[in-house]
Amino acid sequence: MKIDRIRVGESVIPLKRPFVTALRRVENLESIVVCVGSDTGLTGYGETAPTEAITGESREHILEGLVLLRQELAGKEMADFDGLIEQIKTLLPDHPNARSAMEIALYDLAAQDAGVPLVEYLGGEIVPLETGITISLGETDAMVEQARQAVADGFSSLKIKLGADPDEDIERVTAIHEALGDRVHLKLDANQGWRADEAIGFLQELGRRGIPTELIEQPLPRDDLAGLAEVRRHSAIPILVDESVFTLEDAVRVLEAEAADRINIKLDKCGGISEALAIADLCTERGVKCMMGCMLEGAVSVGAAAHVAAARPETITMIDLDAPLLCAEKPVEGGVVFGVPDIVIPRRAGLGIERIEGIHWIKESN
Ligand SMILES: [Mg+2]
Repeated sequence: MKIDRIRVGESVIPLKRPFVTALRRVENLESIVVCVGSDTGLTGYGETAPTEAITGESREHILEGLVLLRQELAGKEMADFDGLIEQIKTLLPDHPNARSAMEIALYDLAAQDAGVPLVEYLGGEIVPLETGITISLGETDAMVEQARQAVADGFSSLKIKLGADPDEDIERVTAIHEALGDRVHLKLDANQGWRADEAIGFLQELGRRGIPTELIEQPLPRDDLAGLAEVRRHSAIPILVDESVFTLEDAVRVLEAEAADRINIKLDKCGGISEALAIADLCTERGVKCMMGCMLEGAVSVGAAAHVAAARPETITMIDLDAPLLCAEKPVEGGVVFGVPDIVIPRRAGLGIERIEGIHWIKESN
């Protein structure tokens, strides 16, 4: 099977409500889509979303990378799949988003060619997955209201965005806990917002107030591994790193510095499925559990992340794939179904996507 035509396009999907973290506020999901056709009539879909504040890759940078791949990969033989993946890494070392989109499309195509769901192509099987949901950073009352609504909708795992001010943050968490009680599992994400002494003070206060918490995510700036290790030594709850780990190399460094108990893997950070599997496999070796997360991405790339999570269920034990649920529109037909809170992988080959509406295709003369 050969790669035939590659198309690159984009779409803007409005969110149900603005998404707010310590780093940014957004009202739409910007999706960049790649569509890889084969000479056998199959179509593989891939996707990424520009999150420049985190990955450093702008929309223009991603499109430029994908247009280059469009030229370089057209006509290539899919039989040398590992070679293709290596070639993408060599061509675009500084384009994790673009690489991820193209990898997803190629994996989708390869799994379709093999006639199995992507999860099976990756060595796993379809398993039930349940996602938590994110509560945006904001005024305490608004966050309590959002959290109440999420629980009423059927979620039992909430990720609370923090990181504005540790004293205000403790009040936010306390108010949410008082409103919901112990039956709801809270994960806290400070998005690099604190210093080590602030994080330690926060965790001590959380303990004093007896608020059950599953984990604290990225309390300190990404490069402060010594600080993270110090917070970890003082913490009764697991430290999950997100921004500190983009690549396999980062994961090795963080684990060697004993800076985290858990790692949040995201396709857009690490550059795609191959690197995500490499991080998960390292963590399996080291006995470290992972979360499968996502940026504000659409149902294609988050669907691919669900397949990856299902392919490594012993290690990827936490699922935080809520972005498609935050969208006010659903442009993808077929593929993974994002319910509340269940994620259902269809028993169809590849990602199982039928088509995507509303894409503005980039002209091929570019
Ligand atoms: Mg995070």
